[in-house]
Amino acid sequence: MTHDVAHKLASPRIEVPKHPEWPELAPAEKQALKERIKRLLQERDGVLVAHYYVDGDLQELAEETGGCVADSLEMARFGARSNARTLAVCGVRFMGETAKILNPEKTVLMPDLKATCSLDEGCPADLFSDFCDQHPDRTVVVYANTSAEVKARADWTVTSGIALDIVRHLHEKGEKILWAPDKHLGRYVQRLTGADMLLWDGACVVHEEFKGFALDRLRRLHPNAAVLVHPESPDEVVDQADVVGSTTALIKAVQELPNEEFIVATDDGIFWKMHQLAPNKKLIPAPTAGEGATCESCAHCPWMAMNALQNLEATLRTGANEIHIDPAIRERAVVSIQRMLDFAEGRR
Ligand code: SF4
Repeated sequence: MTHDVAHKLASPRIEVPKHPEWPELAPAEKQALKERIKRLLQERDGVLVAHYYVDGDLQELAEETGGCVADSLEMARFGARSNARTLAVCGVRFMGETAKILNPEKTVLMPDLKATCSLDEGCPADLFSDFCDQHPDRTVVVYANTSAEVKARADWTVTSGIALDIVRHLHEKGEKILWAPDKHLGRYVQRLTGADMLLWDGACVVHEEFKGFALDRLRRLHPNAAVLVHPESPDEVVDQADVVGSTTALIKAVQELPNEEFIVATDDGIFWKMHQLAPNKKLIPAPTAGEGATCESCAHCPWMAMNALQNLEATLRTGANEIHIDPAIRERAVVSIQRMLDFAEGRR
């Protein structure tokens, strides 16, 4: 039997911050700032680990300095493989926490510890733990976009790149699943695997703003465009996709599909990498505006936007914004993350 029952406890109200306004830097100023960051990285024996959604300058610098630009699964893998003593994580807080959980001996710094995520904020550990207690017969699978405390309560952590494979594997073993926090991704996984899943009622404020009716209109204007959709988007958007997948899968699609135009439904930070790898392809942002639009309808995560060259330099200079995890939480959280990494390794 398949369930599609979202968790009914009142989700906490999420305060979505305004996008920070970073001062425009003249080219020479920007170059000087980058050089200072490179020196600080050397002094700290550090590497940059950046997500595809952060500013292009940070992605470029991560690549120039031997760091990595990736999705959250590959960020975790890279951090675990790296010999550097310091990981400077440009992304949102759960990414820094995952890096620290996997590398307790390393110093993990982030440009801004207030850079969280609506999925993480919408799934407080105490409410989630009550939910798990009410369903002891279910295997607990949580998305990576959760706090260390929530991961500590889970059997498995998954990213969007591996969620389908892991849930399918559990379903084949006859396990029933409690899924949190993203209901859209959960529903998508449920539809494709047929697994019995009970879903937490969380959502990404960025992807939830993509509009199905406006996408339908845009597709008519660009009939030859392939539609690429991240599965945190609502069903009516996912249903129009030619490719549904993680950030890595969407980037690969732009490189490999023969289409010349792509409509892209995910955070627009991804365009930097898509342009870099497929400079001749035309990228069209999927619509968020129009009827039903809110002040968050800009397809750019306000928490990812808290990362910039300026505060990266400050944290590397001062050592501020270090991630610390309670050892008892870490000991339990690492089990669910390591399970995912071992599973991913087995699939390679
Ligand atoms: S884009 Fe959505 S899922 Fe990603 S960090 Fe921002 S709020 Fe969270």
